[in-house]
Parts: sequence; structure tokens; C-alpha cells
Amino acid sequence: MFIGHYGVAFALNRASPQTSLGLLFLATTIADVLLYVLYLFGVERVVIAPATTASVPISFQHIPFSHGLAATLLLGAATFAVVLLWSRAERRVRLAAAGALAFGVVSHWLLDLLVHAPDMPLLFESGGYGLRLYDHPLLTHAVEIGLLFGGLAVYLRSLGLRGPRGLAGPIGLGALLVVLQLVLRRGAIPVSLEAVAIQSVAGLFAIAGMAAVVDGRARRSQVPTPESLGAAGADATEGPERL
Ligand SMILES: [Zn+2]
Repeated sequence: MFIGHYGVAFALNRASPQTSLGLLFLATTIADVLLYVLYLFGVERVVIAPATTASVPISFQHIPFSHGLAATLLLGAATFAVVLLWSRAERRVRLAAAGALAFGVVSHWLLDLLVHAPDMPLLFESGGYGLRLYDHPLLTHAVEIGLLFGGLAVYLRSLGLRGPRGLAGPIGLGALLVVLQLVLRRGAIPVSLEAVAIQSVAGLFAIAGMAAVVDGRARRSQVPTPESLGAAGADATEGPERL
């Protein structure tokens, strides 16, 4: 899955408004960053194989550390512990941030399970589970775009954003992600997997960076409403305790 992960990140920002949207974007896609880094270092095995699924012509032959359930749960637990210990925010804020970021990490496996070929292991073996939604490109696009805009709607409502100034950034980011989804998930066969890996890692960090900037600007243009004060908390704007 690609942009559907960002729908989860947008929605999680409502549960932990002090956590930068950029960090949530990174948490929900850290498994793919790991996948391509581990591939480049020869730890995980991925090959170009056009017959794998209709949307992604890549066979993920051995991906237990980036996309295994056990490794994902361990990474989620580690994320929770590190944020809890590292952050200096008050306990309630720290718990919300740790929970949101850990859930974001773990959510990646669940959403990928829906789309992948049966290649996601429970432990550290090769092969595993996957419900193959990638075999249905239109349905894949519909699910991913639906998840993205569902999460975006939760985010916009929790911030009480309105007017072109407040809405332009988040909606522009959403539109850019839809374009990337349609271009990158059209089943084109890559020439070089190394190039795909490097571009993917750079792209995932760039998107997270854009989300952080958009989130910061949106919060500065935020108009306080009863809903934003109630749901997201009166301290949802930027402050010293933001992560
Ligand atoms: Zn993935």
C-alpha cells in the first residue's frame, strides 16, 4: 500500500495533535524505508517480477525484518518505549504521541496485508500472507484514495481548518499524493530495482518533510472552534511540547 498509509497518519494526528504530521507520515511508512534500505544492503530479497501482481511488478521474496508481523510488533513496541523515554512533554502528551506513533508503525503491516501477494511472514521466514488486492488496480486506487481522504477529513475537522488559506496546504498535499499513487502504482516495470529503492527512500522522507511543513502552516492558520478546542485540545497549536 502507498498513500492509504498516509490516511492513517492524518487520522492519528487527531489522537495526538502535538505529534508532527511529518513524524506520523514517517511512522506509517517506516516499514517501506526499512525494506528498501535492507534490500540495498542485501539483507532482504526483492526482485523484478512482472507477473507478481497487476499493480506492483515486484516479488518480495524475503522481507521478514521490514514486513514480518513479529518484527513489526517489535518495532512498534520499540517506538512506543523510545518516544515515552525520549520526549520531555507531559505524561499525557507523551503517552498519546507514543501510542499514535507505535500504532502508525503497526498499521503498516495490516494495510499491506490487504494488498500484497502472500509474501508477508508472521515470524522471520520467507513467504507468508497477503490478500492480493494489488491484482485489482482500480479497486486498489479506490481503497488507497478513500483511506487517504477519510484520514484527511478527520485531520481537517479536528483542526477546524476553513477557508482557502487553511485548507490549501493539506488538500494540496492530498492531491499530490493521489497523483503519485496513480503514476507510481500503474504497474510499470522498473529498469533498475536499486534506483527504485533509492528513489523510494528519498521520496518517503521528502513526503514526510512536506507533511511536517504543511502541518505547521495549517496550525498557524488555525481558527479555534469549539470542535477543535474539544477534540484536538486547546493546546493543538504549535508549542514547546510538540514532537
Ligand atoms: Zn509496505
